[in-house]
Amino acid sequence: MTQETGRPKDDATRVVSAGRRKEWAGGIVNPPVWRASTILYDSVAELRERVSDTHHRLFYGRRGTPTQWALADALTELEPGAEGTFLYCSGVAALAAALLSVLSPGDELLLVDTAYDPTRSMANGLLKRMGITTRFYDPMIGAGIADLIGDKTRAILMESPGSLTFEVQDIPAIVAAAKARGVTTLLDNTWATPLLFPAIAHGIDLSVLACTKYVVGHSDVMLGSVTAAPGQFGRLRDTSLQLGQVASPDDCWLGSRGLRTMAIRLKQHEASALTIARWLQEQPEVAAVLHPALPDCPGHDFFVRDFKGASGLFSFTLAGGNEAARAALIDGLELFGIGYSWGGFESLALPVDPMRYRSVTRRDDAGPMVRLQIGLEHVDDLIADLSAGLARFRTAASTR
Ligand SMILES: *Cc1c(COP(=O)(O)O)cnc(C)c1O
Repeated sequence: MTQETGRPKDDATRVVSAGRRKEWAGGIVNPPVWRASTILYDSVAELRERVSDTHHRLFYGRRGTPTQWALADALTELEPGAEGTFLYCSGVAALAAALLSVLSPGDELLLVDTAYDPTRSMANGLLKRMGITTRFYDPMIGAGIADLIGDKTRAILMESPGSLTFEVQDIPAIVAAAKARGVTTLLDNTWATPLLFPAIAHGIDLSVLACTKYVVGHSDVMLGSVTAAPGQFGRLRDTSLQLGQVASPDDCWLGSRGLRTMAIRLKQHEASALTIARWLQEQPEVAAVLHPALPDCPGHDFFVRDFKGASGLFSFTLAGGNEAARAALIDGLELFGIGYSWGGFESLALPVDPMRYRSVTRRDDAGPMVRLQIGLEHVDDLIADLSAGLARFRTAASTR
């Protein structure tokens, strides 16, 4: 999107204007909730004509209403070069539909070892049962992925930065190796969103978001999306319709509402998270901070080269201590909630144990790991809270 001056529009502007079509919602700014199952036609002829209509016209509730189309359209617009977006009732549902649109029995999937745990479960459960095998790969493999691509390899699913440990992959090198062999590339782009990593522009075929996180942004809706590169949308849409996928209009309405502030929220998440990450690095109780924007993060150079910024989720490891000392740190936090998910306006702290979910890579961490989602509270208040937490950790670790 460029203005008449030729100047590319800023992300903050694009998230405000994307997908807002007057023909769908009149002049209403955020398209209202259009709930529907049955759509009535004037005649049998009109009913017959609509069956094969793949354009945005009301047909039957499962094919959506302007409430869903507006959000899907906005997400497509935010991925320069994309053909279309399909929405799902959760991020995991989006991953399942994307994978099933590409893979058939006998095929092999290459999956990054640092994938989100439920993605790993899907590969080892549902996909395996369908006769689809999975090979896990080291997130730092880069162009070396070519050696893993065999006759049966049909797809590569990346997630960058990696879940819990935040390794950044050399996505252009992996995409190049995949393209050379006709292998479809998928990326779980939830951490960066298209604003910080435009996946389709980087050659990804199917870009998956757990919209539950930053798109919704308020910890009150489950939602997922898959945005497809040119030529990839047809089979994604067909598979999704065959699976009966439809995201609820109420949830999509909240998704659209959240999206409009995503750019400005991300900027604040980024700034506060970086301040806290750098502060944690200075604390004697902390052994390591795992954040893509820090130079010692594996793949940091790829982060600098490919990403437009960081979001608000990262981890740190404690210098020694045990499970009880980690719990002492987390349990007493005032501003950080203890809970799954992230991307909302509020901060969260989670005990994480990445080695439970790795099969081809190893880590030797000095102590237990904590994952932080940095919310929109004032950063000084969050640091004070964490500082008290580290003091509790110190006491618990020395009196065991
Ligand atoms: C949360 C998450 C998902 C799944 O999204 P849900 O909406 O919770 O199903 C997928 N990938 C990543 C990286 C996530 O953090």
